[in-house]
Amino acid sequence: MSQVSAYGAVRADAPLQPVKIERRVLGADDVEIGITHCGICHSDLHFARGEWGEQPAPAVPGHEIVGLVRAVGANVTKHKVGDRVGVGCMVDSCRQCEACHEGEEQFCAGQTGTYMSVEKQSGLPTYGGYSKSITVTQDFVLRIPDGLSSERAPPLLCAGITTYSPLRHWNVQAGQKVGVVGLGGLGHMAVKLAKAMDAHVVVFTTSQSKVADAKALGADEVVLSKDAAQMKPHANSFHLIINSVSAAHDLAQFTKLLRRNGTLCLLGAPPVTESHQWPAVFTMLMGRRSVAGSPIGGIRETQEMLDFCAAKGVAPEIEVIAPEGINGAYERLVKGDVRYRFVIDMATL
Ligand code: NAP
Ligand code: ZN
Ligand code: ZN
Repeated sequence: MSQVSAYGAVRADAPLQPVKIERRVLGADDVEIGITHCGICHSDLHFARGEWGEQPAPAVPGHEIVGLVRAVGANVTKHKVGDRVGVGCMVDSCRQCEACHEGEEQFCAGQTGTYMSVEKQSGLPTYGGYSKSITVTQDFVLRIPDGLSSERAPPLLCAGITTYSPLRHWNVQAGQKVGVVGLGGLGHMAVKLAKAMDAHVVVFTTSQSKVADAKALGADEVVLSKDAAQMKPHANSFHLIINSVSAAHDLAQFTKLLRRNGTLCLLGAPPVTESHQWPAVFTMLMGRRSVAGSPIGGIRETQEMLDFCAAKGVAPEIEVIAPEGINGAYERLVKGDVRYRFVIDMATL
């Protein structure tokens, strides 16, 4: 084992601070990555503050990890020392279940999360990417294409794949109307990805100050979701609405906007103590509408998404911060004041 510097929360109500963590010894199938950058997902905040249940101490978040390969084990063929690589929300899975065989490890009951899990290899708790290095089995390490910088690639590893996967699953086609609720880290990637698929994109925001940004990001239309008069003309018109709001809210106002067979796909994972207001059953019956959910994406699809972004020139809007800026960034996330993903530069950790 080796001691590694990290940033983590020692209690749910404590700010994040410098901590030391143990990383496992490099195994034959492992890749050791020197982390250069890590994105800040709202899930990091839910986790560090105990909003999803009790967390380990220290809780070291971070699942949008980019860095350079420092060492590889004897069996590693997929990556070599010096390669620029990424790690997203999973670091392993059971490899035997139906989901794993189909390359959809995000549905594996035995998956190992990048944080909030226990490593199969060592029995150690998993610690995320707010740290100097991470050791990951080669199959869960992604290639970062040359066209993506190390500063802008991290948000793709969670916000990117989490929005790309439902756009593909619901088979979004050119010209179809796609809604995006909540313009934060996930939401702004949903806008860029849906536009890259030539959809007609409508953003629903609670922030007047984001209207101009949404247009600049590529949205065809922007609606202030608290204004019923702006919502009404969109009734019965959406093929898919991607909802990335991080707090519980009224879902009925969005299900009404779905066309026949349309889907409201929930991505947000609010604190477990909160619950959404659900639509009336007749809203769902009439129009055969669906409310669905979607978790991240499998490893194969994550690589496909990275390659898609590099080919199409899709990259997140980021604000680079030093590790000391993490607590301030969390305060801004709570207020919805994110433009549009914080990325930690690990050089000074
Ligand atoms: P974020 O950057 O903080 O964005 C969330 C956005 O939601 C805010 O910017 C705000 O947008 C809107 N919002 C926040 N509170 C709201 C409220 N009370 N009512 C209405 N709108 C509100 O967060 P993120 O990193 O994109 O993550 C979003 C959620 O997805 C989090 O819960 C996170 O845990 C979850 N998540 C899920 C997955 C998955 O696999 N399904 C993956 C990653 C993250 P406006 O200002 O535009 O209204
Ligand atoms: Zn995330
Ligand atoms: Zn499995």
